[in-house]
Amino acid sequence: MHNIYLDNNATTALDTKVIDSMIEVMGRPLNPSSPHKMGRMARSIVEDARKKIAEFLKIGNDYRVIFTASGTEANNLALKGFEGQNLFVSEIEHHSVLNSCKIGYKVLIPVNQDGTVNLEKLEKLLILRRAKPLVSVMMANNETGIMQPMAEVVRIAKKWGAVVHSDAVQCFGKIDINMPEMGVDMFTISAHKFGGPQGIAALIVKKDIQLAPQIVGGGQEQNMRGGTENIVAIHGFGKALEQLKIDNRVKTLRDRLESEIKAFAPDAIIFGSGVERLPNTSFIAMPNATSETQLIHFDMHDIAVSAGSACSSGKIEPSHVLKAMGVDNKIAKTAIRVSLGKNNTDTDIDAFLGAWKQLYINVNKQKVA
Ligand code: PLP
Repeated sequence: MHNIYLDNNATTALDTKVIDSMIEVMGRPLNPSSPHKMGRMARSIVEDARKKIAEFLKIGNDYRVIFTASGTEANNLALKGFEGQNLFVSEIEHHSVLNSCKIGYKVLIPVNQDGTVNLEKLEKLLILRRAKPLVSVMMANNETGIMQPMAEVVRIAKKWGAVVHSDAVQCFGKIDINMPEMGVDMFTISAHKFGGPQGIAALIVKKDIQLAPQIVGGGQEQNMRGGTENIVAIHGFGKALEQLKIDNRVKTLRDRLESEIKAFAPDAIIFGSGVERLPNTSFIAMPNATSETQLIHFDMHDIAVSAGSACSSGKIEPSHVLKAMGVDNKIAKTAIRVSLGKNNTDTDIDAFLGAWKQLYINVNKQKVA
């Protein structure tokens, strides 16, 4: 068990009130498709959570909330389910978006060196559209925390008749954001990134957009996603939203962490520090220390950080996000991601900085001496 958890973009600890709420419904035979009292109780749990999500997201009556078993599945539904498969996705998307596009049907939108989508290129690419296009650009990147100019993306996409999807898995719960107001047609959120349970997420879709379901069965989720609903997780999802508060304290901690690193080691690189970023995320390159070396070092100090996105194999690959930003491979291999959450304190930052500086001195002895 890690004492200091600085990997909140990978997943967050379940909020205690969420656990309590999940225990309340656990152990009951609840299937919302059943015609009896227990079934009706199950149905009201699902619809109650759906309503909470709709209210929280301020989506009004124009959108529907489709529960899925993960953010990954919601992204699959948005992209694979989109008619025509004329897909324009940014190079820095999560692999659940990138790998949802069939080869030959995907046009990659390049990003600028600062990690934001290249809007000029987006427009030039859209001129070449074949069928009705879908543009998918994430609201905030999971590795760097860099925010995308979504309002501009939507403006350009709409000019060329495109539907817009945005993977909002990382920004949701960290910043105050109104996706419908921006004109986004579909977006993805996932409960375990903001104190809710794993294995439950939602695709929010404008009612006039037709998608082909990717899991078919008993017609659940408005015929968009077959399979008996995960009542316990859905209930926890709703409760997690109730508990959600945008916490500005996290940004203060993150900014302190970054300014102390820069003061101590001016040659360290903090990716995206010049553009708008999530308030909790730092993607930092330590000169002359590979990501692996750093992860082992921090792990020995009971500090959990990551080398970028969490990957099921546990293998560390150089970041496709940094590659897209034109970062040299050698530098990309020295990057680690620190992502803070509501439970972090100044003491955690002290411990991280102590361990970071110790390793920096060890690997850069001649320079520091
Ligand atoms: N999109 C982004 C940006 C993510 O960071 C993640 C998870 O790390 C996902 C999608 C996938 O979400 P889930 O873990 O619920 O499958």
